[in-house]
Amino acid sequence: MAAEDVITLTGYVKTYDSQLGRNVGVANVLIQYQKANLELAFAVTGGDGQFTVQTSIPMSQTNDYEWMVQHLILQFGGNYYHTIPWRVTTENSTAAITMSVGANFPVGRWSLYYPYPEIIIPDTRQLGSIWRAANYFYYQQNDFPRNSPSGGTRIIANDFSGGRTNGSFGFPSCNINIYNNGHSDSNVIGTTLHELGHLTHYSNNTITFTRTHDLLRESFADYSGWSLGEKYYVSYGWKQPGGLITTTNPSPYREDVDITACADQDWRSTRAPDYGWYSPLFIDLTDDVNQHAFFRDPEYRYFLNENIANVPSSLIWEVITTSTDWTQCRQKLSQRLVPTYCTSTQLEAYLVNFDEWFDDFGHIVL
Ligand SMILES: [Zn+2]
Repeated sequence: MAAEDVITLTGYVKTYDSQLGRNVGVANVLIQYQKANLELAFAVTGGDGQFTVQTSIPMSQTNDYEWMVQHLILQFGGNYYHTIPWRVTTENSTAAITMSVGANFPVGRWSLYYPYPEIIIPDTRQLGSIWRAANYFYYQQNDFPRNSPSGGTRIIANDFSGGRTNGSFGFPSCNINIYNNGHSDSNVIGTTLHELGHLTHYSNNTITFTRTHDLLRESFADYSGWSLGEKYYVSYGWKQPGGLITTTNPSPYREDVDITACADQDWRSTRAPDYGWYSPLFIDLTDDVNQHAFFRDPEYRYFLNENIANVPSSLIWEVITTSTDWTQCRQKLSQRLVPTYCTSTQLEAYLVNFDEWFDDFGHIVL
């Protein structure tokens, strides 16, 4: 027997997705293969979460298992292995989260009996969902540019529920906070894509972003969370149940199947005493839902009557990056939507609700 032997470990890093009801592979996770804290090799997981670690290790003369105690370390971002534009940290640390798996695990035994191990990322900080959302945002979606600050962004996976907020984006730090409120994975992915929507908007033009009305900002971020989040799940075979909602098919109500929790169909308040910072402004231009057909309170004007759909994301991006207030936004929408996507009568019927909202509340400035 040679004094050294090459050993190959092949496996998958996966995470359980509660929406899909199965484990899915997680890409771009660093696997470090260690012995007594000394790195022997590393690899990065591919799109399906698969990794292959190959290294030369000394072989025991007497027992292949006893002293070849090795560790696999999973690392979520950082500058160590390649330049992904984000890292996921805990609230008390700026270092990328690492977790040790297979600690004190005899490699010989693994290679003999577990040739294709599945490492399931623990769900404690909803880390797998956050990581998948960032992967999707930066490497798979192409709906709008993926801007990020030069140093990348820090996504903080908070360990406990702090109240109503599920996520936040801070500037100029560009830190994103995601709070573990026990929501479904699709909700966490929607929230993360919402915050990444803020990040790319901010990074596109920091000055313009800070001047943009909060309702426009939040409406774009919810568009990001909803459109990208549902697209992500469609790529895994998920289908929007229930079909088109019309006057004769009023149910299921869209909120029942809003897997990302970003598909606003009315004005939604955030922080008291301010109201209505989230709106369906951009979602309604894209989706096929006319919530006016099934609203619960016929007097509630904010369940808008609109028959506009399929406005492309490139146009939404153009509007949000060239408008800071309602006047500019309104003008841009009528210039670009009529007549390709709707008539001016249809657009006016939609926008009049926003006119009223801005008359009532638009004076509130953060
Ligand atoms: Zn937001």
